[in-house]
Amino acid sequence: MPELPEVETIARGLDKRVAGDRIESVWLGSKPEPLKSPAREIAATLESKRIVRVRRVGKHIVFDLESDHVARASSRAKKPGSKRHSGGARSAPSSSAQWIVHLGMTGKMQVCDPGAEVEKHTHAILHLASGRELRFVDPRRFGRLSVTDGFQAPGSEPLEVELERFVRIFKGRRTPIKSALLNQKLLSGVGNIYADESLFPAGIRPRRRAASLSHEELRRLYLALQEVLKEAIALGGSSISDYVDADGEEGFFQLQHRVYGREGEPCLLCKTPVKRVVLAGRSSHYCPKCQR
Ligand SMILES: [Zn+2]
Repeated sequence: MPELPEVETIARGLDKRVAGDRIESVWLGSKPEPLKSPAREIAATLESKRIVRVRRVGKHIVFDLESDHVARASSRAKKPGSKRHSGGARSAPSSSAQWIVHLGMTGKMQVCDPGAEVEKHTHAILHLASGRELRFVDPRRFGRLSVTDGFQAPGSEPLEVELERFVRIFKGRRTPIKSALLNQKLLSGVGNIYADESLFPAGIRPRRRAASLSHEELRRLYLALQEVLKEAIALGGSSISDYVDADGEEGFFQLQHRVYGREGEPCLLCKTPVKRVVLAGRSSHYCPKCQR
């Protein structure tokens, strides 16, 4: 299941390839699950729009769209030779709508030539003015496609939230810190792997109540979470093509996990066997000596 770093990598790869392109027409499959907005509404929103940019919000891929006549008018208004406002720019979008893609468990986006074989479980095909196609493929159908005009993730962005805000988010919460990290209404996009991987360097056990953490412990967790996510994003940056090019290799890059999935194996710091506990139905991994 793609987590925040993977989604960031995919969004960057898509931005590089399709920002500035125009959606000419849309084909949607007949399976209802992937369509969170009605098919007619998705098609009407996407068709004849220019893709201003593609970015990640939480674990969502957000395509900022603008109406084609707006795009033409604004490009006419610019001086000849002036830089086009395209994907590389990170300024506020002047978009009129957004296409939101959540990859779920097995969803993937492909940028390919129209001649490329249409994979089984393809649920959406966007025909682009450049002649290429943007496809959404999802065998298990937990992924979701929707359109909106003001997408906002419910929680704070873990890579942008400030320390004091981060501390306030967890202060006074009686739930285990691991559950609080996974609560998408608090932080957007932190999944099971990176929650475990950030609690380890922070020296905090997953089951500790959030309210019991000192300011110093929350500061360590804040720094560890950002470091682990940035490390994974940096690692993924070199393999963008693996995810969005149809001929790319399958499978996500993986950080060398320090505790996640290492039950019974020696802790990398102290050799104590890593423990696994189940918290709210999810596996949590930690070192009983290094984490308190
Ligand atoms: Zn240890």
